[in-house]
Amino acid sequence: MTIDSPVVPLSHLDHLWFQVSGTLCNLTCHHCFISCSPKNRSFGFLSLAEVKRRLDESVPLGVKEYYFTGGEPFLNPDMVAILCETLKFGPATVLTNGTVFKDEWLETLRDADSNSLFSLEFRVSIDGFSAETNDPIRGEGTFDRAMRGVMQLVEHKFLPIITAARTWPDEEETQVVGNFERMLKEAGYSRPRLKILPTLQLGAEEQRTCGYRETERVTPAMMESYDASLLVCEHSRIVTDRGVHVCPILIESPDSLLGKNLEEAAIPFQLKHGACLTCYQYGAICSNVSSGSVARSS
Ligand code: SF4
Ligand code: SF4
Repeated sequence: MTIDSPVVPLSHLDHLWFQVSGTLCNLTCHHCFISCSPKNRSFGFLSLAEVKRRLDESVPLGVKEYYFTGGEPFLNPDMVAILCETLKFGPATVLTNGTVFKDEWLETLRDADSNSLFSLEFRVSIDGFSAETNDPIRGEGTFDRAMRGVMQLVEHKFLPIITAARTWPDEEETQVVGNFERMLKEAGYSRPRLKILPTLQLGAEEQRTCGYRETERVTPAMMESYDASLLVCEHSRIVTDRGVHVCPILIESPDSLLGKNLEEAAIPFQLKHGACLTCYQYGAICSNVSSGSVARSS
């Protein structure tokens, strides 16, 4: 069955993303939508020089914010220097699993944040409010390690956004969110910020579930009266070591690679992937807004 798919133009390049650690991660979460792992090197690191080149390229285009993801961004040895450099250009957000921080990195980043006109945000992925609920998804011992990372950030006066993939029934949402908030406060994070995300049926999660059915697509009729600015691809692009892709979710799809530079990649994109339906349903993917919407998981 072929479904006619709507096309979304890039209205303005507001957000520039970097797949800064490629597909390399120290964890192997069961729901990772790009199957990142300690062995997955299908996408490589971005160097400080490459990020600097893209930051310079982004200025005349009026980019307003920068985002860093992976894999685990802090496996990239240039990561601290990259964030310090980015804070000269605009606000930066890094999506991390929180398990590999060194205090000296956070001291450097605290200084860079304090001395910048722009802010540095951290999003830390934790998928349950206890080891019992998190570790079956993210790996044994990861709850304690990620919470240690959260507290390192808090000690360095950052207010991390905790992101959790929704792996519980809808009717339990209020209770789960309450449990998260209580756990974070008891740990010493007095002003916790929490963002709940839907899972995307791609990568490792596609293996775990059945993936998207062919009928699960956005149609042109669905886009009538829909605010397309809720979709990341309407105002963002992502740089990988292969070039510039449409969005952080689809980098493994060959059609997501739009060009070698930001200008080439400023072209419309056809929403023909199952993941586009998840974006459509939840909206505001990847924004830092703490809400019940969807965001890119680290
Ligand atoms: S997955 Fe989401 S952000 Fe990516 S092209 Fe589809 S709608 Fe746009
Ligand atoms: S979900 Fe995040 S932390 Fe887990 S394997 Fe994927 S990139 Fe790594």
